[in-house]
Amino acid sequence: MEQDPKTSQTRETLAVQAMGRVDPQTRAVVPPIHIASTFIRDQDNAYSGGYSYGRPDNATVRELEEIVAMLEAAPAAMAFGSGMSAAIAVFAALPAGSRVLAPQVMYWALRKWLATDAAKIGLRVTFVDMSDLTVLEAELAREPAVLVWIETPSNPLWTVLDIQSIAEIAHRAGARLCVDSTCASPVLTQPLLLGADIVMHSATKYLNGHSDALAGVLATQSTDALWGDIARVRYTYGMLLGPFEAFLVIRGVRTLHLRVRASCANAMELARRISGHKAVSHVLYPGLPTHADHALAARQMSGGFGGMLSIRLAGGVQAAISAAARVQVWKRATSLGGVESLIEHRASIEGEGTPCPPDLLRLSCGVECVDDLFLDLDRAFG
Ligand code: PLP
Repeated sequence: MEQDPKTSQTRETLAVQAMGRVDPQTRAVVPPIHIASTFIRDQDNAYSGGYSYGRPDNATVRELEEIVAMLEAAPAAMAFGSGMSAAIAVFAALPAGSRVLAPQVMYWALRKWLATDAAKIGLRVTFVDMSDLTVLEAELAREPAVLVWIETPSNPLWTVLDIQSIAEIAHRAGARLCVDSTCASPVLTQPLLLGADIVMHSATKYLNGHSDALAGVLATQSTDALWGDIARVRYTYGMLLGPFEAFLVIRGVRTLHLRVRASCANAMELARRISGHKAVSHVLYPGLPTHADHALAARQMSGGFGGMLSIRLAGGVQAAISAAARVQVWKRATSLGGVESLIEHRASIEGEGTPCPPDLLRLSCGVECVDDLFLDLDRAFG
């Protein structure tokens, strides 16, 4: 199991113990939540405590950032009020006029923002089929870009992208690589160790794991000028994560490895059982040997193939909507990565321009008993 070089403990142990921090005043095993928005200056006008105001920084948020940096083998991490704000902070930190390459399959709201709003801050965005490395190379040769953005496994089709090869191609062309690794979580993939420059998570999902906090994080390969610019965006736009949410995510991260392992096991078992079902025409899950990216996923992801899968109903869009309407154990809701299993007719959400087929249901596998999850689906398929 992967060890943290600073402590020689596994990343799992460090996460479970939230880095072993205790409250220095009371020796409580759970440090307090720091909620102050302002801090006393010293008589010589300095801030010897290291904090001045609540918008740039917060002690509870720093605790979370230390854990995320450890999990991603990064020198530094930053936490934001949502996954979207973490992602947009990266784009907003780029110089106006920058060219950015993004994948065709990715989280729909960010794809929409890139397609419609990124131009308002002077970015030029091209969507590229990142699964074809020659297409990516040709696009970068045609015109350089400052940033390549990818998401893997990609929501909601669960294609897997080759982080190491894409990092090499991006770097050869002078671009940075940022990876949205939300659906892999730091348990299954560590993009920075594969050559990515920045990794992003919607911490609303697996890191928190209990569907009760919105949060986003970035972790970096280098605390370079871009990282400083991202910190300035977070500070000036007021994107810092709130202290209570930071506490909730820290609490969630304590069980991250257990939860991700259980979700992966449920997803794998369900993918196997559903594969033969007559109501289902396709099962999209990189853990299945029949999945086009299975070999890459097996190489790049360790310990499982993720807790997310999608299915396409043989009866088409109406059959998909009806099946989602009939479930009882699965909850009909958006989002993913929580302990409870969620089901969603994705095309209804994604709207125009989505690569999502209309007959697709997205399943976020929680940690419930897999037999209950399967029987509920089987009943719902009718
Ligand atoms: N990235 C991925 C892959 C997601 O699934 C989501 C949300 O569903 C986001 C980013 C955005 O995160 P948030 O909802 O925390 O802003």
